[in-house]
Amino acid sequence: MPEQPDRPGPITYLDHAATTPLRPAARDAMLPWLGERFGNPSGDHRVARAARQAVDEARDVVADVVGCRPGDVLFTSGGTEADNMAVRGVHAARPGQVLCSAIEHDAVRSPVRLVGGATVAVDSRGVFDLGALGAALTPDVSLLALMTANNEVGVVQPVAEAAELVRRRAPRAVVHTDAVQAASWLDLPTVVAGADLIAVSSHKVGGPQGVGALVARRGTPLRPLLLGGGQERELRSGTHNVAGIVGMAAALRAAAAERNGATARVGALRDRLADGLLAAIPGAVQTGAAEGARRLPGTAHLCIPGIESEALLFLLDEAGVCASAASACASGAHQASHVLAAMGIGPDLGSGALRLSLGWTSADADVDHALRVIPAAVARLRGAQDRGAEPAGRGPSGPAPEAPRAGDKVVSPSAAQPPTIRSRDLSGEAPQR
Ligand code: PLP
Repeated sequence: MPEQPDRPGPITYLDHAATTPLRPAARDAMLPWLGERFGNPSGDHRVARAARQAVDEARDVVADVVGCRPGDVLFTSGGTEADNMAVRGVHAARPGQVLCSAIEHDAVRSPVRLVGGATVAVDSRGVFDLGALGAALTPDVSLLALMTANNEVGVVQPVAEAAELVRRRAPRAVVHTDAVQAASWLDLPTVVAGADLIAVSSHKVGGPQGVGALVARRGTPLRPLLLGGGQERELRSGTHNVAGIVGMAAALRAAAAERNGATARVGALRDRLADGLLAAIPGAVQTGAAEGARRLPGTAHLCIPGIESEALLFLLDEAGVCASAASACASGAHQASHVLAAMGIGPDLGSGALRLSLGWTSADADVDHALRVIPAAVARLRGAQDRGAEPAGRGPSGPAPEAPRAGDKVVSPSAAQPPTIRSRDLSGEAPQR
């Protein structure tokens, strides 16, 4: 456990899904490019050629880790740009109906809404509803976006099965998968094999922030978002972030090399943490851990009745535990997350959401500290509520239920599924991580 930056005492970092610390291999790879090495990879002299070679070597690594040809890799400024480029770039090149799952990150949801797209339901475990997809697939569909694993509850999605269905029912449609959260944990060549477009982000795997990639397999219809110097096959103009790109490649390579060991080690830590919290906090339930639903090993997501996430996060931060609710605040009103709502979890439970995400630096001491701090903080908040006091960091009003808005489109789930939740207008909300 590192020291806290602004006060003495250890810090327990349980927010790796938001960003994970820079790996030493990434830092070492970047350092020369922050010092004596420089150069614009698009130039014609030896300094430029050296930079171009570094970018090309990084491209080879990304291709190897994702399972594509080096020429398919387009470097971007991060996952958000990669997702936007996929949705808007395909829509511009091949107009038609755009579909995405109801639990996508806003980097997908917002551009899908912009192009008039619709969402497809998930079931109560947070798993994409292939039955609802089947009903929604008409020959007019041009794009399906289905994330590889969800950023809030960690549930792994059936990308290969969905892609197979798309091929059969809507053969002109392109499949995009946001693999931003999955890249640290899953063997991408296997899990994203059916996708035409794949988004990854460096800072979720231990590389620097502000760099990512969109893999666009050969023949995928795509128009650029950014016009200019014509870099990246004319699909993403802008001088390359050489230091960021080599750092991302080093981080991806390190994560892939350590994957099997890390999955077992971090998965065991996560299970000890989740089991300990479920035993110590009456009424707490674990989200995304249902039978038959595969989860990322680093993610534990709990819903804790009788408390509000914002107040809990405030107390945890005070005690040196960094966690997240992965939900959004709009002008003081805490709104239930669209992911939980899509899983049929109402505001009574969803307002007490707690995402604890572990990563490559997580250790037993983090779990021990969290198991001491979190149940005590919950008990304190519940005690304050029993006494009628206003809990820390929160007003007295309850969470605002997620309401459908005019103009939202939705593809209904099969009758047995929980109610489908429409996508929301996100203006004014806090960013999702
Ligand atoms: N997609 C998912 C699933 C994410 O979790 C995130 C980041 O939180 C993004 C996309 C955005 O990536 P970036 O932060 O690199 O823009």
